[in-house]
Amino acid sequence: MKDLLSRIKEASLIICLVLAAGVAVCPFEAWSGRLPEIRILAMGGTIAGVAPSPTETKDYKPGTLDVASMIRSVPGLDRIARISGEQVANIDSSHMTNELLLKLSRRVNELLPRDDVDGIVITHGTDTLEETAYFLNLTVKSDKPVVLTGSMRPATAVSADGPLNLYNAVVLASQSQSRGRGVLVTLNERIHPARDVTKTNTTSVETFRSPNFGSLGYVLDGRPYFHRATAKRHTTASEFDAAPLG
Ligand code: ASP
Repeated sequence: MKDLLSRIKEASLIICLVLAAGVAVCPFEAWSGRLPEIRILAMGGTIAGVAPSPTETKDYKPGTLDVASMIRSVPGLDRIARISGEQVANIDSSHMTNELLLKLSRRVNELLPRDDVDGIVITHGTDTLEETAYFLNLTVKSDKPVVLTGSMRPATAVSADGPLNLYNAVVLASQSQSRGRGVLVTLNERIHPARDVTKTNTTSVETFRSPNFGSLGYVLDGRPYFHRATAKRHTTASEFDAAPLG
């Protein structure tokens, strides 16, 4: 009898572990029965930049395209999520201000508690992307995914990197695996934690790196692959709160 009881216990433990692992790797859609709802907040940058010709990548105007045209430029987004867009700013991110940072943090904190928002993607210029990501990592009060992306080549360039970066950011924001990992940054198929990531080169598409501890993983063909987690405090465990700053 005792033997039977311990076998039942073992079996239920195995079932629980399998179910827990399943929830961790299952696409959101598989366990919720619906596509995730992702809000894209657009801030401008090269990802929304336009150059006079497809071969010019230096003399272009960042923050030109609006959020709707960026969404239209990415094929297949509607198969992974229900997308809505919001233009928060449309600037060269070297002109980022404290007021805009606070506005963005406030908006993210307004949106994430809603049932019709499962994750947020922020398109941003790369010059100050890491500062915005880190600020949000300390001031967002939710476990839901917040993913920043940008691009090194303007939207008009041959081999523009923006559309794939935006696609991968939506993939990441749509996945239950991305929850509770702090604010994430994805460019060039890598996933970085906001705490560690930095821009290392002014022109290369491989510019974002996490020099001390490496990336968190990568996104490929519509799936994220995580190989580490950050153990540092962030989002819901952060002691910082930007709300009183208005
Ligand atoms: N100057 C641009 C910006 O930060 C650079 C970029 O987005 O790559 O807005």
